[in-house]
Amino acid sequence: KSPKKGTRSKRESIYDYKSEAAKKVEMIAKSRDERRQRQADEKALKEQLVQLEHNNPYWEFAQMINEYRASLEFKPLRETDPVIENQITVCVRKRPLNDKEIRRREVDVVSVPTRNQLVVHEPKHKVDLTKYLENQHFRFDYVFDDSCTNDLVYKFTAKPLVKTIFEGGMATCFAYGQTGSGKTHTMGGEFKGKQQNFKSGIYGLVAQDVFKLLSHPKYAKMNYAISASFFEIYGKLVFDLLAKKQRLRVLEDGKQQVQVVGLTERAVTKVEHVLELIQKGSLERTSGQTSANSNSSRSHAVFQIILRKNGSKHIDGKFSLIDLAGNERGADNNKSNRQTRIEGADINKSLLALKECIRALGRKGAHLPFRGSKLTQVLRDSFIGEKSRTCMIALISPGNFSVDHSLNTLRYADRVKELIANDNLEV
Ligand code: ADP
Ligand code: MG
Repeated sequence: KSPKKGTRSKRESIYDYKSEAAKKVEMIAKSRDERRQRQADEKALKEQLVQLEHNNPYWEFAQMINEYRASLEFKPLRETDPVIENQITVCVRKRPLNDKEIRRREVDVVSVPTRNQLVVHEPKHKVDLTKYLENQHFRFDYVFDDSCTNDLVYKFTAKPLVKTIFEGGMATCFAYGQTGSGKTHTMGGEFKGKQQNFKSGIYGLVAQDVFKLLSHPKYAKMNYAISASFFEIYGKLVFDLLAKKQRLRVLEDGKQQVQVVGLTERAVTKVEHVLELIQKGSLERTSGQTSANSNSSRSHAVFQIILRKNGSKHIDGKFSLIDLAGNERGADNNKSNRQTRIEGADINKSLLALKECIRALGRKGAHLPFRGSKLTQVLRDSFIGEKSRTCMIALISPGNFSVDHSLNTLRYADRVKELIANDNLEV
């Protein structure tokens, strides 16, 4: 109802009323405008997203993977899960997509539904070009998803092997995978820009636990001394990372004992000493190289912690931690130069020999083909003895660009483990 105009007595109240009404109308109009603007913004954003998705050649695959994941029940590994005491442990770690992969709009094609299962969603095309996924399932002792920390990975992989070297056995832990998949991050420590936190890597974490066990009442009276060495195997050549990459010779005596002649071995009495050596060796390894043409991706780095009775030459225990060369080199095709092809063939050979040596460790009396490569030759004593234990951590990149390399890595890791499964069946 609109009030009558012209009545003087009501003038003021009318004025008030109008003003109130005008304010309300104004407010309603304003909120309507705001709502419209919001809707328009949302619509524009949606269109932009759709546009983006359609520009992205992988958006259909991303959608298919999302649908697949929606059907999975995720029960990932937890800190409190039991640790399996195997002679050979094989596990896989998936890292998160990195900035470069996100910028390229790569799709994460790896799912980790449980603590020991992994699915690779391989994008494929039918002959009529319809897209589909080939979902490939794998099972390992553990699978670490992209939310796992180095601490958690350590707990289930290298940590259970530390006591081995105090009990007359040799221990080895390998990081295997394509360049950029996270081998050095896992073994050496997390990167913050160019800086690496060596305390957070498996080298440093092993050192910490070695000193813990050393002072444990059970071993304190054994009079053990600890030392460490760090070297690099590049093709057939060995370089000392604690002595300015001095070239070293590998000799085998009549009793098949293998020795790296002149290798620096530093006595260490506390974790800080070891961390200094890890830092020194890591810097030596990467100095004078660009990431685009990285030598470190073409060499194996071997960090060792050695246990001896004080004053004795005899080695009572040794933990070897190996950051392997990138396994993608086998794929180096005839487009690459001769040197690169030779390096690729060398790396391939050493990784195949390594697989065979690990498999032999799981079989009593098996022939140990350690002469197959420099790597297996220098690690020979680690593949002998019932007490010796090993762990392989296979690292994979999650992006669809890496799917072929990831499948190669997983198949290799699978074969290292395969025999053990068969052995268990025979028992
Ligand atoms: P590789 O030694 O196998 O060539 P790196 O360990 O150097 O690979 O890792 C490549 C990059 O990815 C590094 O910048 C590293 O910080 C990062 N990265 C690797 N693994 C992880 C992870 N689990 N979480 C976060 N970043 C990671
Ligand atoms: Mg590396």
